[in-house]
Amino acid sequence: MLARSHLRLRPFELHRPTSVAAALDHLTMGAALAGGVELIEAMKGGYQPAALVDLSLLPGWRRIERQGADLVLGAGVTHAQAIADPLVEAAIQGFQAVWRQIANPRIRAQGTLGGNLMAGNPAYDLLPVLMALEAEIVGVDPAGTAWRVPAGAPLHGLITAIHVRAGARLHFDRGWRPVLGVAAVRRGDRYRAAAVWGHGVPVAAPLRTAKAWVAAISPFITNAAGSADYRAAIAPVLAARALAALP
Ligand SMILES: Cc1cc2nc3c(=O)[nH]c(=O)nc-3n(C[C@H](O)[C@H](O)[C@H](O)COP(=O)(O)OP(=O)(O)OC[C@H]3O[C@@H](n4cnc5c(N)ncnc54)[C@H](O)[C@@H]3O)c2cc1C
Repeated sequence: MLARSHLRLRPFELHRPTSVAAALDHLTMGAALAGGVELIEAMKGGYQPAALVDLSLLPGWRRIERQGADLVLGAGVTHAQAIADPLVEAAIQGFQAVWRQIANPRIRAQGTLGGNLMAGNPAYDLLPVLMALEAEIVGVDPAGTAWRVPAGAPLHGLITAIHVRAGARLHFDRGWRPVLGVAAVRRGDRYRAAAVWGHGVPVAAPLRTAKAWVAAISPFITNAAGSADYRAAIAPVLAARALAALP
């Protein structure tokens, strides 16, 4: 017997381009497929793209490498890959301890960093971490023009890579999610933090003192998970905790 969810999948074309230009061509008619965690669920729920464009054969899709001062992560790097590669921990101390806590083993094995960003879910963790790290996202727009923007800026077209300047220490206090999560980063004597609370784009700001930082990022919003006042009250606590836990 077929599961109900299988019956809902309509036939689609599958393209497996080996160049970004070919991928963009196919994307005019279809949806980008990375790990498929989000996309296949959406299709089971009724989303019916005429074609899927599997990005896994694009050059450098799963690369993790140093380019000068930058750690470069291909958009197709899976969470599990990022957790296991020593280059990542060498560039961002603490990242792997934090990233081991997200999702579950199946999602970490299948889901990609690019897919996490492009899912556009305001509760997801990668964007605030990248904002605290002052990372840059690299991609191409639908017309094929390359772009490179700071994490937190709007993304469109295809993400190809994430650049993070090496030499950071990171801690992410996820203990109060979905009410609030706080990622703190130290670079030399500079501190920066980002807050995520399941709504809109996370906010990042220099972290001088936990209180000053909260003033810089407020106002919080009230939603089903918690009130703005409550978030404002726990934010300095989480920031102080994240600071204390920095490796
Ligand atoms: C049970 C569960 C628990 C989870 N827990 C967490 C958590 O604790 N923290 C967290 O941060 N996340 C969590 N996630 C989210 C998870 O990290 C993402 O679902 C995953 O990373 C998506 O990646 P993917 O490659 O499978 O994306 P896909 O499903 O392949 O793609 C997602 C979307 O992005 C588009 N896309 C993918 N790659 C690109 C690209 N390179 N350029 C342009 N568009 C692209 C696709 O077309 C699609 O619209 C969880 C998910 C599940 C199901």
